[in-house]
Amino acid sequence: MIRNIWAVGRNYADHAHELGNTVPTSPLFFLKSGACLTQDNSIRLPNWALDCHFELELAFQVNSLLEIQSWGLAVDLTERKLQNELKSKGQPWTLAKSFIGACPLSELKSGRNWEQIRDLVLELKINGQTRQRAHVREMIFNPLVLLDFVKIHFPLCDQDLILTGTPAGVGSLQSGDFLEASLGSSSDHWLQHQWHVSS
Ligand code: ZN
Repeated sequence: MIRNIWAVGRNYADHAHELGNTVPTSPLFFLKSGACLTQDNSIRLPNWALDCHFELELAFQVNSLLEIQSWGLAVDLTERKLQNELKSKGQPWTLAKSFIGACPLSELKSGRNWEQIRDLVLELKINGQTRQRAHVREMIFNPLVLLDFVKIHFPLCDQDLILTGTPAGVGSLQSGDFLEASLGSSSDHWLQHQWHVSS
């Protein structure tokens, strides 16, 4: 059972800049409830949401020794209008980040370490069009640094998930959208997942 989703914000410089934020000097963590997870091929947007953004992220899961055991593709769904309001008031992001269904996740795949995936490309296509694309090595704090930070500060549990932040290109999701996420290269299609957005 995945109890906690430890998520990091502003971990790709291009994305920090596109939302008008500065690049952090230490990881900016927030929590999504483990119960936000969905592991199928549909994304259901809450009916109260006005502007739900996609953020494709490389995710990893830890084992009972709190070592990286597997990798996945996660969508850190974010109600951007609410998040901007909360940010401007200095209030926590929970309502914008941890709602029902806020963390669609692919299968989790093991067998590689960070050195073996750092040169792969994270890509999200929506309705056939590339919207996000970056080498995962472009992240500011790599998974090993993020894991150390989480272990020092938080009650990390066996099977917990860590989301490593999103590259530039985030935008609104609409009912009917078709998402194709991948982690790979032209010769190495390591991990892929698709979602349909329903209302
Ligand atoms: Zn995110």
